[in-house]
Amino acid sequence: MVSNHISHWIAGRTWSGTAQRRGDVYDPATGRVTGQVDFAGTAEVDEAVRAAREAYPRWRDTSVARRVSVLFAFRELLNSRREELASIIVSEHGKVHADALGEVARGLEVVEFACGVPHLLKGGFTENASTGIDVYSVRQPLGPVAVISPFNFPAMVPMWFFPIAIAAGNTVVLKPSEKDPSAANFLAGLWREAGLPDGVYNVVHGDKVAVDRLLEHPDIKAVSFVGSTPIARYVYETGTRHGKRVQALGGAKNHMLVLPDADLDLAADAAVNAGFGSAGERCMAVSVLVAVDPVGDDLVSKIKDRMAGLRVGPGCRADSEMGPLVTGQHRDKVTAYLDAGVAEGAELAVDGRRHPVGGEDTADGFWLGPTLFDRVKPGMSVYDDEIFGPVLSVVRVPSYDAGLELVNSSPYGNGTAVFTNDGGAARRFRNEVEVGMVGINVPIPVPVAYYSFGGWKASLFGDSHAYGMDGVHFFTRSKAVTQRWLDPSHGGINLGFPTNR
Ligand code: NAD
Repeated sequence: MVSNHISHWIAGRTWSGTAQRRGDVYDPATGRVTGQVDFAGTAEVDEAVRAAREAYPRWRDTSVARRVSVLFAFRELLNSRREELASIIVSEHGKVHADALGEVARGLEVVEFACGVPHLLKGGFTENASTGIDVYSVRQPLGPVAVISPFNFPAMVPMWFFPIAIAAGNTVVLKPSEKDPSAANFLAGLWREAGLPDGVYNVVHGDKVAVDRLLEHPDIKAVSFVGSTPIARYVYETGTRHGKRVQALGGAKNHMLVLPDADLDLAADAAVNAGFGSAGERCMAVSVLVAVDPVGDDLVSKIKDRMAGLRVGPGCRADSEMGPLVTGQHRDKVTAYLDAGVAEGAELAVDGRRHPVGGEDTADGFWLGPTLFDRVKPGMSVYDDEIFGPVLSVVRVPSYDAGLELVNSSPYGNGTAVFTNDGGAARRFRNEVEVGMVGINVPIPVPVAYYSFGGWKASLFGDSHAYGMDGVHFFTRSKAVTQRWLDPSHGGINLGFPTNR
């Protein structure tokens, strides 16, 4: 029995029951079990939803000014304790500390955006829309909402949603990934210290059982999901079938197109950073590099040079640039793609299995070094599948048009980037590419908090992107009010449809 026991957070305290099922939590750098997390059954989910339902009316009716003061306090606490949170992320996810700090910073951005909720919730007002009649709109919260998040950003992805949901007057049940559950509980402690009333933010841990109960629970009004495409599709279909508002963000296969006029040193830097940062376990990672002839040879050679110098080691070590994969099972799955790529005819230009790992105590960690495949083609599994590891595939194409066609024929449409010094070509790409987030000489174009994050096609089910104004709209519903204050001139019978006279 390991000492670190992670349990649900319901109604402002740690759940005190005995779980029927638990899961192991690992330190991916050592491969050791460091904790055990309770898995919720239906009863525990129901308890959390009940807490959220009971807290909802008071929180909804709490003044916007008061809600915002809690948000500001949460922002201050998150900012001052970000090192601690980053260390928790490193210990369960494996990413390097600087990367974990970056994750916290991008979550903090959304909290800061949500601090502006008084402005964001303002409705419209039309005086005298018809004679003596004013029309106005208000935005109101939905009620208890669920957030279901993936392992790869245990703090940032939940923070894409819950700051806006809470600021708008909703209450939340978060179901984080069972692989790195502790960040969600740390954030619960910060909310409590910030003065958030009990029951407004709840956490249930677990797996499909917990997710399924949230999807069918009649008191959950909306679901924000982020994870792999098959589960996103399932969550969208199941949640909407139960009458809920659902946004479900799925997987990705992001292409970076390098045109012949691009600065190849900058493009090589960008490909390595975006391909191997966080060991490729980012939904916005670049996994396919599309090199337009004749840049392929030069680009591959520059990328290989840079890969040779990458320092792979435990995330807690200051000099590590890339950490391990999240679990042994995932590492084995990614490694299997190396054999498959070779069998299918791709050139294994850099084999990550040979990359040295720095640091003591790493013998049983979930390691795989950065890997490069060249001359990859559609139809090969390394091209078609989302590998979600440190594997970069180079596809060579004869022209811009061939590159664009390749990007647009992907079933995914999360992020993409073009590298060029030609403004006209970049403009054309921006216009023609069928992808939700586009970088122009920016390899990971994650929008800032006041825009919205979301892909197209199999990368997002539903029509609302995350955060920004899409987030405000997702977590509120609008009401249009038509009002007049009666005086004797308003009398009389008229069965006609109201018109604006
Ligand atoms: P995952 O789909 O395995 O899990 C996501 C969540 O769903 C977790 O909370 C998990 O417990 C739950 N879940 C898993 N299997 C389930 C099932 N059968 N039924 C119901 N719930 C289930 O994803 P992951 O491995 O944690 O995360 C990696 C994936 O997330 C990648 O595909 C990545 O591209 C994607 N992702 C997408 C975005 C985006 O914005 N589009 C962002 C981050 C990650």
